[in-house]
Order: sequence, then structure tokens, then C-alpha cells
Amino acid sequence: MAKDLTLKDHTFSELKRLAHVRGFPKEAKAIQDYLMALMVMETFEGVTALMDDLASTEWIDFPQAAMVRRMAYERTEALRKQRAACAECGGSGFKTVWFLTTYHGMSLAPKKHERLRDIHSQGEADDFSRVLQVWMDDNPKADRQMVVSAAENCACRNRVSVLQ
Ligand SMILES: [Zn+2]
Repeated sequence: MAKDLTLKDHTFSELKRLAHVRGFPKEAKAIQDYLMALMVMETFEGVTALMDDLASTEWIDFPQAAMVRRMAYERTEALRKQRAACAECGGSGFKTVWFLTTYHGMSLAPKKHERLRDIHSQGEADDFSRVLQVWMDDNPKADRQMVVSAAENCACRNRVSVLQ
């Protein structure tokens, strides 16, 4: 599997495994509906596993996109439950991380970003921002620095197999 293949490309090529079934979507809008339904699976392996199931059925008419979507949701339910139990991200699948961004002088052009590994909450980030502000007030010629937050994928997004 090529590394630069997007999930959408992969899903489209998987969908074509059912191209022989009567009623296979032909219009871009309809194809898009099926791609979105299949991509509920979130991963290459997940999409393939769902297509394996779909391809093992002798369809007389092409299954409705809504049905494919429902199957995908049923299969990923365990994944979502496990994620909801993740202590690191509280189930969102994302973690907030903080960086200290240093700008060139007082400009908005960033010079460097340093990950603040000791900061684990917005409260801690706010406290650090205040300390930084006091320091900058005392050192008006220094490069401007700011605490910025960013979202990072939580490890739990990859940890759980979508196969039940
Ligand atoms: Zn998590």
C-alpha cells in the first residue's frame, strides 16, 4: 500500500470492489456519500474490513449509503467506547499540547517553537503566560514570546483495532 495514498483514495479503490453490483453509484455526489459512510471506519484497515464484509454478500441491488454508514458506526462503537475511557484525552481523541513560541523582536514572525513538556493544563499554561508577561515587561528589548496551544492526536486513536 502506497504511503502517500489518502484514506479517501484508498476508500474509493475499495468501493470499486463492488462495481459489478447493479446500482453502483455513478454520480460524484452519490459516490461521495458512500466514501463518507465508509470513512466512518477512520483507518485503511477499517475501511478494508468493512468492504470485506460487504463484498462477501451477494447483492442484488447496491446497498444504501445509509446502511453502509450504520454498519460502519456499529463496527466502530467499541472503538469510540474505548476512547471515551481514555484518561489522556477524555475520549476526544485529541490532546492539547503547549508550545512556547519565540518571535523575531516584536514581530509576528515566529523564530522557534519549543514544546512545553511540563505543562499539562490550560491553568498551568495561563500561569506560565503570566510569569512570561512579567518577564517581558521587565525586558522590553527581548524577543516577544507567547504560550500557544495546539491539538495533537491522542495515542488512543491508533491503539485500538477496529475489528471486533
Ligand atoms: Zn485518548
